[in-house]
Amino acid sequence: MRYCKSCIMPDTRPEIVFDENGVCDACLSHKKKESEVDWQARETEFLKILDRYRRSDGYYDCIVPVSGGKDSCYQAYTMKTKYGMNPLCVNFVPCEMTDVGQKNLVFLRDLGFDLLQIGSNRSIYRRMSKIGFERLGDCCWPEHIGIFTAPIRVAVNYKIPLVIWGENPQLEYGGPAAERESRTLRKGWLEEFQMLGYRISDLLNEGFSEKDLYPFLYPSDEELAQVGVTGLYLGYFTKWDGRRNMEHMVSLGWNRNPDGPCEGTYTDYENLDCKWVGGLHDYLKFLKYGYGRATDNACIDIRFGRMERLQGFKLAKQYEGSVPRRYLKDFLDFVSIDEASFFSTLDRFTNKYLFKRGSDGQLIRNEHGDVIKLDYGFEE
Ligand SMILES: [Zn+2]
Repeated sequence: MRYCKSCIMPDTRPEIVFDENGVCDACLSHKKKESEVDWQARETEFLKILDRYRRSDGYYDCIVPVSGGKDSCYQAYTMKTKYGMNPLCVNFVPCEMTDVGQKNLVFLRDLGFDLLQIGSNRSIYRRMSKIGFERLGDCCWPEHIGIFTAPIRVAVNYKIPLVIWGENPQLEYGGPAAERESRTLRKGWLEEFQMLGYRISDLLNEGFSEKDLYPFLYPSDEELAQVGVTGLYLGYFTKWDGRRNMEHMVSLGWNRNPDGPCEGTYTDYENLDCKWVGGLHDYLKFLKYGYGRATDNACIDIRFGRMERLQGFKLAKQYEGSVPRRYLKDFLDFVSIDEASFFSTLDRFTNKYLFKRGSDGQLIRNEHGDVIKLDYGFEE
């Protein structure tokens, strides 16, 4: 394992690319955004596009998919107050919503937005979560699909062609170069990056019917063409900064996590809406790739010059790597498995080369039952 020389992202991150100086593509994109991009020109271009969709008859002229998080609230607020649009906010209900997640959706409505919630059939959802956890090592697999399909389904059915996404994840966090410069969200992206190679249509061969999967099925090309659905990343047209978004929303009444830092990281303002996207989902990532949410957060703070690499490295070491227990029982109940089967699934997804093992090859655990990451050393 080696780390980016500019941030602390390890090369185990899927899709990451390092340049000849050992700097990751996310850091390079960040520098480019700071220096090369003509933001004025991009905003002018954005305004021109918006004018094509703007309506004056009172109907919604764009959709903003929202989790209730700092970024999506900021997106909705920006579209309305800065660009004068009339968005319909669409929320795909996550696996299990937290109290603070619920509060922040109410905050959004208090802020002056209409909210449409798509809550899918929970018996189907549980089965999908279980498949996601046991087969893909991603407990939030259906959530990540629904977040991207449900707003598009609403766009088609409500005939609201413009969908405004937030950041381009490949640009902010690294990924193939072709995707980094993209300003639109394609269906191909969804299948390649979000579904972990396991397609929703694969479920049709496993006892699920099309009716069961309706909210998770991307509309057909014909349906999309009929309405002219276009998805744009706000983060392509205006400079993105998650912390600025958070501070702005907090000043308007948005709620940070009342329990302090989220499990697995040092921040209290990310992934607050779902009971296990912040904890278990990120912990599975840690077991697979040796890094978790604290690393993600630190990399962003380092790129913005708000933190030194060494401090980020220490924070990652301090916060990552503990089995998230806050909502463990809720999760076991949700997918109907016992603790032994939970831990054996974790073991199956643990990259054994990244963690300490005994002479018998078995993973060694500390007094809390956590596996111990090997020390790869940190170079200044
Ligand atoms: Zn980097």
